Amino acid sequence: MAYRWPADTDFSLWELDVLDRHCPVCGRMMHICDHRYRRIHTLDGPVQLICKLNHCPDRTCPGHARTRSPELEITLALPQMAIGWDVLCWIGHRRCSRHMAISLIPSELQDDSGIKLSEDAIDQYIRRYQVMLAAWQQDAESLRQLYGPTAEIILCIDGLQPEKGHETLSVVRELTRKRVWFAEPLISATEDEVRRLIRRAKEWAGSLGTPVGLWMSDKQEAFVKGIAAEFPDVPHRYCDNHFLRDLARPVLEADSHAKVPMRQKVRGLRKIEQAVLRRRKAETKDDLTPRTPEATGTATAAANPPAAVVDPAGSVVLDDCAAVRGILNDDQGGPLHPAGLRMAEALGEVQESIQRNLEAKRGGPRRSNSAGYRDASRRVWTKSKSSRR
Ligand SMILES: [Zn+2]
Repeated sequence: MAYRWPADTDFSLWELDVLDRHCPVCGRMMHICDHRYRRIHTLDGPVQLICKLNHCPDRTCPGHARTRSPELEITLALPQMAIGWDVLCWIGHRRCSRHMAISLIPSELQDDSGIKLSEDAIDQYIRRYQVMLAAWQQDAESLRQLYGPTAEIILCIDGLQPEKGHETLSVVRELTRKRVWFAEPLISATEDEVRRLIRRAKEWAGSLGTPVGLWMSDKQEAFVKGIAAEFPDVPHRYCDNHFLRDLARPVLEADSHAKVPMRQKVRGLRKIEQAVLRRRKAETKDDLTPRTPEATGTATAAANPPAAVVDPAGSVVLDDCAAVRGILNDDQGGPLHPAGLRMAEALGEVQESIQRNLEAKRGGPRRSNSAGYRDASRRVWTKSKSSRR
């Protein structure tokens, strides 16, 4: 659908002409036969392009029927697009490099540059950007330039699962330049299929003219056989990460058994939460009958009717329940940070924190402070985030 420009848009006018105005067939000076008007968004504001179209004035020359457009037009914007290259790159960078959600890009673009585009339009531009990005990633010439000064390349192959339930992508990466060479979803990672990918990597390496110094993988049988067959003289090393993970498998199994009794012991969160909520509900009902501040115990309670402020202790309990639930559900972590070990640490901190509160209550004014528990749960959360990378 054509882009609808607001009537009061203030366009900069850019006139473009053909650079070499000689007829490519007969060499005669060409004439301007028509104009094409085009409007595009740039990061510096809206632009109206006036493209002068040229053709050969000699009706008998084949150059007469072949209209020429200004060469510069394509360097400003792709055909049919209502945005210039700069805006396309801005959008693509936000999506592919910053991983911004598509739904957030329109508002960001409008705030940054005053450009109003629909989510659908952004989505289409991103698709085109991805096609170009993929083409660039695999462009043999730019790869040759990139690998020109490299003495040796290191290749690795691995299966990646973007998300649970997604089909596994077999990815071949080059490690000295940290480039993904190609990826393919293999329905079944049979020896033949894997061999095909490894052969392709061999072709790529061959076209670069750079020797392969090393292969790395998790040493699945299909990888081992395929690499040995296609790269008989290249060493094939275990990937550190996989090596550690495989080596630590018994530790992780023991760790996962250790989590079971902890989960069995720390339970009944739902019951505690329900009890707090029930009590609150009852108290709110009571609050509907008019009371004096003295009757509710605190002055703030009368000023702010709903339960949240009336019941600080209840809020602490609910927060703590949420923190403990987070601790119990945290399953992330590799062999160096086993989940069960972290669960034990975090639960220990919660226990100490409750103990401190109990002691404070016995010995003096009660400190209703759940910062300790929150810290514990936050630590678990940060750890799990970093270990996912
Ligand atoms: Zn001509």
